[in-house]
Amino acid sequence: MIIAIDGPAGSGKSTTARAVAERLGYVYVDTGAMYRTVALAFIRSGLPAEAPPGEALRGLLAGIRLDMRFDPDGMRILLNGQNVTGDIRTREVTEAASRVAAIPAVRERMVQEQRRVARAEEKRRGGVVLEGRDIGTIVFPDAEVKVFMDASVTMRARRRHDELREKNSDVSFEEVLDDIRARDARDIYRRVSPLRKAEGTVEIDTSHIAIREQVEMVVRAARERAKSPNV
Ligand code: C5P
Repeated sequence: MIIAIDGPAGSGKSTTARAVAERLGYVYVDTGAMYRTVALAFIRSGLPAEAPPGEALRGLLAGIRLDMRFDPDGMRILLNGQNVTGDIRTREVTEAASRVAAIPAVRERMVQEQRRVARAEEKRRGGVVLEGRDIGTIVFPDAEVKVFMDASVTMRARRRHDELREKNSDVSFEEVLDDIRARDARDIYRRVSPLRKAEGTVEIDTSHIAIREQVEMVVRAARERAKSPNV
C-alpha cells in the first residue's frame, strides 16, 4: 500500500507520516529530504540554485548518488556515501531546496528515485508512507490513500519557530514567517508539479487538532482502503 501525504511546510506532515508508518509497520519516505540533499550538493558545488546552465546541471546530477536508509526512528540520507541527514536542516539549505525543486530535470530525477525506493520498500514491508508536495498528484497518482494536510500560515510558522527554538536557534518568529511565505509561494506557483490537492484526497486541517487525531484519521483511511476488494 502507498500512502501519499502532501501539504505545505509546517502543516504537520512529517510528524504524522512518521507516526502512521510506525503504527502500520511501514517505511516512511521523506521526499523533502531528497530535494534538500540536492540543494546541499548545489551549495557545495557553487552552482546557482536558480536556472543553472544545462551542461553544469547535467554534470552535477550525474555526480550525485542518493541512498536512503530506513531506521526505526526515521530515514537517513546519504549523499555520495556521506550521511547528510543533519546537514540538510539549515536555513540556507531549506531556502535553496525550494529553488532547486523548481528545476524540471531535478524533479524528474527525484520522482524516478522516489518511485524506485517506494516500490522496493513496499515489497519488503507491505507499505510505504511518502510525504512531500507532489506525491498524490505526480509521484503516485494511484496511491491507495492520499492525504492533504494544511493549517494557517501563522500556525505553521509558530510550529516551525518552536521546533527551531528547541534546537537553540535564535531565528525570530517574523523571519520564520517570511521564510514560510516565500517557500509557499515558490511551491504553489512553480511551473512544474506545483503544490495542489490530488483528486480523491482526504483533507486534514491541522490548525486545531492534536497530532494523535491526525494520525488516527490516516490510519483509519488506510485500514478502510485495505478492506476494499481491489487492494
Ligand atoms: O518538506 P521539506 O520542507 O523538507 O521540503 C523542502 C523543499 O523541497 C520544499 O520547500 C519544496 O520546495 C521541495 N519539495 C518538493 N516536492 C516534494 C518535497 C519537497 O518540491 N515532494
